[in-house]
Order: sequence, then C-alpha cells, then structure tokens
Amino acid sequence: MIIFKSEKELAKYLLRQKSFEKKIGFVPTMGALHDGHLSLIFAAKKAQELCVCSIFVNPHQFNNKNDFIRYPITIEKDIEYLIKAGCDILFLPHQSEIYPKSFQAKHYDLGNLEQVLEGKFRPGHFQGVCQVVDRLLEIVVPDKLYLGQKDYQQCMVIKRLLDLTNRNKKVALHIAPTIREKSGLAMSSRNLRLSKEQLYKAVFISKALFFIKDHLAQLSIEQLKQKAEEDLREQGLEVDYIEIVNAETLKSASNVNQPLVVLAAAYVGDVRLIDNLVLN
Ligand code: AMP
Repeated sequence: MIIFKSEKELAKYLLRQKSFEKKIGFVPTMGALHDGHLSLIFAAKKAQELCVCSIFVNPHQFNNKNDFIRYPITIEKDIEYLIKAGCDILFLPHQSEIYPKSFQAKHYDLGNLEQVLEGKFRPGHFQGVCQVVDRLLEIVVPDKLYLGQKDYQQCMVIKRLLDLTNRNKKVALHIAPTIREKSGLAMSSRNLRLSKEQLYKAVFISKALFFIKDHLAQLSIEQLKQKAEEDLREQGLEVDYIEIVNAETLKSASNVNQPLVVLAAAYVGDVRLIDNLVLN
C-alpha cells in the first residue's frame, strides 16, 4: 500500500493509473477502522478497482467540539488493517491539504435532508460532510464511491452532492450493508469510547430497531415508536430520535404502504450513536 499525504502527489499518481485504464474505487473514512470500513475496501477490491481509502477526521462536520476532540484515532492499527485488506492507496492528508488558505466554503442546497433527523439535531453537520466529500472527490476523481448504509441519511446527502456538482454520471455510488457485532450493535468508531457496561446498553439501539421490524404488521407506527423509545429510556439512554419514515424522502410515514426505514440516534453516556434498518 502506498501512503500519500500530499494532494498533488496523489492526484499525479492517480492520473497515471487512469492512463493505464485503471478504475478507481474510493472509500472515504475518518479512521478508527473496523470491519464495517473494511467491507467497503473488500467491495472495491472485488470489483477489481484500484482501491483508495482516505482517513481524515473532518473538523467541519462536528457540531459538537468535544465529539471532535474525543474522536478515536488509531492510525497505526488502521494502516495494518488496510494492508491486510489489500487496500492499494491510503490518503492521509493534513488539514491544510483539505482546507488550504484559499479554501472557500460553499453552501450546498440539501433541501429537506438538512431539516430532519441528523440534519435537525446536528446543525451544520451535513454542510461539513459535503465540504469534505466535495474536496476529496475533486482530488481523487474516482469512478466509484463506496459508502455504508450505517449512515443512511449521509448516503442520501452525498447522492444529492453528486447531483449538485454534476458528478452523478461520472461517479457511481455503491452503498454497502451495515456490518454489525454479533450482539446486533452496528459497528462504529465511536464504540471504542464505550465502557463494557455502555457497550451492553448500546446493543438496545439495534434491539429497538429489530423490534420495530419484527412487529410492523402487529402494531401501529406510533405504538412501535413509543415502545422502542420507552425501552431505550428504560436502559438509561438519552434518545435524540427514533423515527419511522419514507425510505426515499425521509418524510414521516403514517402507514406501511410505502418503503420504510427506521432511524435512531441516542446517547450512551456522552457518546452519540446512530443506527437504522430498512423495514420493508
Ligand atoms: P466514518 O469513518 O464513520 O466516517 O465512515 C466511513 C464510511 O464507512 C462511511 O461510508 C460509513 O457509512 C461506513 N461505515 C461506518 N460504519 C459502518 C458499518 N458498521 N457498516 C458498514 N459501513 C460502515
């Protein structure tokens, strides 16, 4: 695996690879890698693409300063994982590569996506996500972009970003399923910040989602949400939201005759976790 820290060096290398007809598969991450991230690397390798992974903890997407300061960093281990997974290139930029002095933040019109769920609870978060992904796409110019369904709303935001920046015909999106621990807990870098007891409690988030999926035919949407939320609060979790919405628009759903997804965000201690499940 080759590690690049400079935008220019990476872009030069990739341009040469493209001249040999190589297809570029790109996996943007914030590091503290786990099997969820690696599943994206494997998908790019399976498609026989030159796999580029980036690790950059993007300060612009953290609406909570402490969350940024405490974001886990395990770079040595990440490099080992990536080599074992067969990743070809790691882009490990310094902040000044992504946001040079000349950088001018754009505003992205994300419409309703920015008003609901994560958009509502984390003001400015998706603008920050778009800024970094826009920059990374500008540098890597991939043929395919690999994202995890774990961040359901983020996938929709990035799809929108591709439309807004006229990249939708040039960059294919590959959205990979959420990888979970045996307990059902969705893998997340932030899980590293949980104590053993908190890890036990965090499992109740996925349990609540699976409860909803299993009882979709028996209970009303309101009853499902109430029961799930009660269960989480009983475990001492602070719930930001647990919503059953239309899977294509993220608008509130009052009946099950439409594609549905349930999304949740809750605090275990001071660690905020998100998860989701497509229901039908
Ligand atoms: P992050 O490092 O959290 O920014 O995530 C980088 C990419 O990995 C994003 O596209 C995430 O959606 C994806 N990802 C994170 N956790 C998982 C998971 N448990 N399963 C599948 N993909 C994931």
